[in-house]
Amino acid sequence: MLTNTFEVLDKRFTRYAMGNVHKELLHSGTRWAEGPAYFPAGKYLLWSDIPNDRVLRYDETDGSVSVFMQNHGNHNGHTVDREGRLVSCEHRGRRVSRVEVDGSVTTLAAHYKGKRLNSPNDVVVKSDGSIWFTDPTYGIDSEYEGDRAESEIGASNVYRIDPDTGGVDAVATDFVKPNGLAFSPDESLLYIADTGASHVENGPRHIRRFKVKKGRKLSGGEVFATCTVGLFDGFRVDEHGNIWTSAGDGVHCYTPDGDLIGKILTGEVVANVEFGGIKRNRLYICATTTLQVVYLNTRAARRP
Ligand code: MG
Repeated sequence: MLTNTFEVLDKRFTRYAMGNVHKELLHSGTRWAEGPAYFPAGKYLLWSDIPNDRVLRYDETDGSVSVFMQNHGNHNGHTVDREGRLVSCEHRGRRVSRVEVDGSVTTLAAHYKGKRLNSPNDVVVKSDGSIWFTDPTYGIDSEYEGDRAESEIGASNVYRIDPDTGGVDAVATDFVKPNGLAFSPDESLLYIADTGASHVENGPRHIRRFKVKKGRKLSGGEVFATCTVGLFDGFRVDEHGNIWTSAGDGVHCYTPDGDLIGKILTGEVVANVEFGGIKRNRLYICATTTLQVVYLNTRAARRP
């Protein structure tokens, strides 16, 4: 018997939503929870509280929450690279940075063609070490999530950092406000959200799907799914290629064919999700003021 955590829209969803499982509240008190990243070696999750300019840490071993970073750069999206290092999108820092194994912080990207980035929002690392990130203006639109400023670039693009040269190339330049992004399990596809409806009346509230060419360029880019409640922000892909995405009323689950098959209802607007736990079958959910988690009968996509 499924709990009221889940809403089944298609019977295919019942393969992933288990009976008697319910969402758990792990923490409350954030202003805008975002950027979850799970560290298997340490058994903890980091996530951002953007307006409070802090990164929090949830310890899976004892359930405690502590402050990992504060007054650093209004961090938004995070990911963990192949070497287990934290890669961060900083609003106020207006850069993509990395915490090295000795604890020092390295700037990976701060400019494009000599102009400052807007405010990197979300990031993913491909198996070849390349780093792909989105750069909308949310962190420079107000003083709430960063420092208000005009865009130097004058556009909100998607970029790739080359693993060999460190060079920053624009891989998509036709977004209004690119946001969350994730690769398909075999990395042949890249999904990218556009939350442009926040700035443009009847603007985009969808996820687009691109083909990845030679590991470094994108083609295609058709609309994969349009959000039915609120906006798609961050999302993750599971081992079956399903997309578990943030939305206005919880987490929406889409099949690789683009069918919305079910929801996890959270009671608050969701900004991002991350698979954690030793088996990577716990979906951590950043839902505005709360961090929630739910067990699923699926796991994070394995990296190639
Ligand atoms: Mg985002």
